[in-house]
Parts: sequence; C-alpha cells; structure tokens
Amino acid sequence: MTTPSLLSSGTPSRCTKRRPPAKEGDKNGVTTKFGDLGGSAIANADSKNGKTTITFDLNQAHQSFTNRNDGSKEEAEIAGTVAHEGQHGIDDKSRGNPRSEAEEYATEKNAFDAQSWVNKGLNVNSAYTGLWNVDWTTPYAALERIFGVQNWARKSTEAWCSEPGAACQ
Ligand SMILES: [Zn+2]
Repeated sequence: MTTPSLLSSGTPSRCTKRRPPAKEGDKNGVTTKFGDLGGSAIANADSKNGKTTITFDLNQAHQSFTNRNDGSKEEAEIAGTVAHEGQHGIDDKSRGNPRSEAEEYATEKNAFDAQSWVNKGLNVNSAYTGLWNVDWTTPYAALERIFGVQNWARKSTEAWCSEPGAACQ
C-alpha cells in the first residue's frame, strides 16, 4: 500500500484564508504593561470598552517565586503567569470582565488550565500546589491536574468574590 501524496490532492480550500500571525504592535485591543499592583497580586487582566490591559508586577513575582523549596522555578512561574493572564485576555476580549461568580470561575479555570500546561511542558513543579507536579504518574496525572485547576479556580473565585463590589451573591 502506498501513502497518498498530499501534494497531488491540492490544498484544502479552508486552509487558504488563514490569518497571518499576530505581530508586535498589532492593534488587537490588548495592552501589556509592567508595574506595581500593590498587595500580593503578581499579575492582573482588566477589560474596559473592548480593550484589555494585562499588568505584570515583576517585583512581586520575584518575591513570590524565588528560592522556594517546592521544586518550582521562578522562570517557569513567570511563563505560567503569562499564559494565565493571556488566557484571561482571550476570555475578556470576547465578553469583557466577568459579571458573575460563574463567569469568574470559568475564566479562572481556563487560566489555571493554561498555566498548568506550562509547568507540564517545562517539566517543573508548579508553585501553586497541586497545579502540576513532576512526580505525578499516569494515568492519574491527568486527573490530579484537573483537580488542581478546579481547586485554584475556586480559590481565585473566592478571592474575587470577597472584593468590595464583586458581582457575587
Ligand atoms: Zn486568574
């Protein structure tokens, strides 16, 4: 049996209108900046009028992630934080800031999911206990990861709901 040549069948038409990759400076409605967020926040995504601003507090990140004895690494945590906030940016872009506990939980679940894949991909423990651990073995690793994502999403949602004026009942 021979493997059919992909070239002879031509390019499927749905692949011809692929958008070019985003470039730095593209006007996509997302602004990334660095600055002091005050308190213990490491990063934050905020949307207003269809524009999302993602702020990273690198001093706070350094304080939180340096010299931990849990198998995590500062560089991996920063990469994970970028993935986390980037996912919030994607979620917020389509529907704005969360307007309910359920929306907040949904976007935190997406964000911790993205973050956890970074630790898995880099094979480094997460500083967020239970989000990813290199000692997890299959077949349970996938379940542990999902439990970790849900647990951190719940914690994050509780913190969000405890803020003054939060849209929680
Ligand atoms: Zn988050």
